[in-house]
Amino acid sequence: MTQHFINGRHVAGRTGETMAVLAPATGEEFTRIACGTAEDIDDAVKAAQAAYEGAWGKLTAAERGRLIAKLAIKVQDHFDELARIEAEDTGKPMAQARADIEATARYFEFYGGAADKVHGHVIPFMNGYSVSVVHEPHGVTGHILPWNYPAQMFGRSLTASLAMGNAVVLKPAEEACQTALRLAVLASEVGFPDGAINIVTGRGHEAGAALSAHPGIGFMSFTGSPEVGKMVQKACAENLIGCTLELGGKSPQIVFDDADFDAAVPIVCKAIVQNTGQTCSAGSRVLVQKNAYDAFVGAVARQFSTLRAGTPEMDLDCGPVINARQQGRVQSFIDQAREQGIPVLAEGQIAQGVPNGGFYVTPTLFGPVPRGNRLEQEEVFGPVLSAFPFEDESDAIRLANSTAYGLVAGIWTGNGGRQQRVAKSVRAGQVFINGYGAGGGIELPFGGTGKSGHGREKGFMALEEFAVTKTIVHKHG
Ligand code: NAP
Ligand code: MG
Repeated sequence: MTQHFINGRHVAGRTGETMAVLAPATGEEFTRIACGTAEDIDDAVKAAQAAYEGAWGKLTAAERGRLIAKLAIKVQDHFDELARIEAEDTGKPMAQARADIEATARYFEFYGGAADKVHGHVIPFMNGYSVSVVHEPHGVTGHILPWNYPAQMFGRSLTASLAMGNAVVLKPAEEACQTALRLAVLASEVGFPDGAINIVTGRGHEAGAALSAHPGIGFMSFTGSPEVGKMVQKACAENLIGCTLELGGKSPQIVFDDADFDAAVPIVCKAIVQNTGQTCSAGSRVLVQKNAYDAFVGAVARQFSTLRAGTPEMDLDCGPVINARQQGRVQSFIDQAREQGIPVLAEGQIAQGVPNGGFYVTPTLFGPVPRGNRLEQEEVFGPVLSAFPFEDESDAIRLANSTAYGLVAGIWTGNGGRQQRVAKSVRAGQVFINGYGAGGGIELPFGGTGKSGHGREKGFMALEEFAVTKTIVHKHG
């Protein structure tokens, strides 16, 4: 689709310029997208403002919720089509794409149901006064999203804002915006008024920068890298508006010697392999108590060596990564660790018959990784797992908190006291005990601390981010 979606219609954009989008599985061009400019962003913001002041803004919360819920049903009706588009655009295995579309529909169900349940409250105050606290929309919210879960991100970021009553403008990632464009059309078909949802495709430094700096935006929701997140926050500061930043991670899986290995091993593997490691909350470090290290890491290595990467249609454990740059980046982490002599404990395989031009990398397990190494500190965003031994509980906590990130942590132990102590001490926005949900849990508040960002999405908390709280004090005697 080589056009933006503004004010309920496909439009070519002011310059008419387009750019190629490659299919990661083949490396070949499969579509082109419009290169949005500041003028296109301005058109989209104006359309959103008009919708907010007009048809969209006039709907009751229940009416908004009903439209969002209808979109959930529409997504189910177009399930195979959306999964196929998502798989082609991102290269992800079909099973992953199908899980993503299922999750997208769940976001619409959840926020459709939540729209009319944002209640304010009443505060007892002095005699002769009534005080109420209400939550109101910002007006127009801006959304800049990455390429790893494009449909789910639409569900997560846009829908919470729409449920609160805002009109939205989205700049999706240039590598993967096809499902977002399709979802906007489906939303129109179920009855969303023109201008409630607007999408401008194109480059981050052009369309994205223009969106985050636009004075008509009341709040920004950004998901992506810490580097770009800083730029977005600075742009928001110029307009004195707030933003949520959902950034990267280096999330630890902490395995004690009393853990249930049979339960932990497959989940530790899945948490890094899911979506070919391109998940902000990927469990990219596995920390194992020293006396259990060989046995546990050995079991992970056996499973890791069975992993295979292939095309979406092959539907294996992994797909390609998103583009050649990312392929080079992930490969450079692997090559450098090998040069440094860090042991390779297991390697998966790239399946026979994948197209030569596709962006495949071999899933790799390293360990023991020296503390302070790049593999401990930097997000790889690929199927690379790093193992680290630790001595005892306090060493485990020190190691878990040794990076600048703080997104998710997994704790594996049967000891109830330890479960609670470690959960309280580990720096993360979400902690799983004897389980792990990389990206899961629509109902659960999600977000980071430190370099992983700030603000919360998912669940009811997201609705608060997309709202302005107003206190109304009435002196009536
Ligand atoms: P990215 O390079 O930061 O890009 C994210 C979005 O920002 C894209 O739409 C990008 O446009 C846009 N952008 C680039 N430069 C911009 C600028 N100067 N101003 C405004 N927008 C700009 O991130 P990515 O490489 O796509 O995604 C991977 C990162 O996202 C990882 O760090 C990952 O951990 C993080 N992530 C976090 C979460 C979370 O919930 N915490 C979820 C998913 C991903 P282009 O497409 O043109 O580059
Ligand atoms: Mg990018």
